[in-house]
Amino acid sequence: MRTTTARVPAKINLCLGVGPRRDDGYHPLATVYQAVDLCDEVRATEVDDDAVTVRTLFAGDGTREQAPVPTGPDNLAVRAALALRDAYAVDAGVSLAIRKAIPVMGGMAGGSADAAAALVACDALWGTQATRRELEEIAAKLGSDVPFLLHGGTALGGGRGEEVSPVLARGRFHWVFAIADHGLSTAQVYGEYDVLHADTPLPMPEVPQELLTALASGDAAALGRALSNDLQAPALRLRPELQQVFDVAEEGDALGALVSGSGPTVMVLAEDAVHSEELARLLLASGVCADAVQASGPEAGAHLI
Ligand code: ATP
Repeated sequence: MRTTTARVPAKINLCLGVGPRRDDGYHPLATVYQAVDLCDEVRATEVDDDAVTVRTLFAGDGTREQAPVPTGPDNLAVRAALALRDAYAVDAGVSLAIRKAIPVMGGMAGGSADAAAALVACDALWGTQATRRELEEIAAKLGSDVPFLLHGGTALGGGRGEEVSPVLARGRFHWVFAIADHGLSTAQVYGEYDVLHADTPLPMPEVPQELLTALASGDAAALGRALSNDLQAPALRLRPELQQVFDVAEEGDALGALVSGSGPTVMVLAEDAVHSEELARLLLASGVCADAVQASGPEAGAHLI
């Protein structure tokens, strides 16, 4: 049986500005994404019928609890395969196997990452030869973060996140991800954000200039000071104990710390690889998170391996 495999990074938001809820229910975003080398892999294997199936294998030592991932048509990797099949009138099926390292419901877009990887893997398996632009169009319909996960690197995200354009970034940044035992629902965090801002008109979000300057010069300390996330306050309201992660990060002289996307993962910026190892050890020893995973970025988007 022929097989193709795509690797895909997790995403973080170095800034996440959230505007007033639009009529379609989405919030306009102004974000800078970075792809980091905490990667899922999606393997696509030929089948002799037209069924599209998926199973998920969890990477690592199995000590971290993981929320279940949908096993049927709700799985974003399946939705991606079906969308590609519809667009190119393919009549084959596929068996998808996800090797998961990105925390589930962790604010790192793991589901969207698997969708991007499934597009790349199925395109190669079925020989659909979609152009990058065609894949990006399908990706945008699957979810706001999916186009960036095809793109990778460091990029601006506009619209509801799906309008991606590259941004100048020098150097490599070292992160530790403090992963929680239980995920947070993205919809619930946005709901809390709306409640917090019910009485104040929200301005249209903008990317802070100091963040772009820090990236352009590859200045990790300046990046640490410029990190921002409008969803941090609602995530902390829903999960007040996350504050302890910030306290430990400060104790370990982290350059900065921020809730990742809608949380509950907290991303902690280190000076270099050695400092990141020290921070990971400190976070684990302090017992404020279920796991502390080191990763660095920027990383390439979904690609065949
Ligand atoms: P985001 O940062 O995009 O808001 P997240 O990282 O917090 O998302 P995900 O791990 O992407 O969260 O999961 C969000 C929802 O998507 C969960 O309810 C999960 O059941 C569902 N889901 C569908 N397909 C997948 C998949 N392949 N992997 C993980 N979750 C998936």
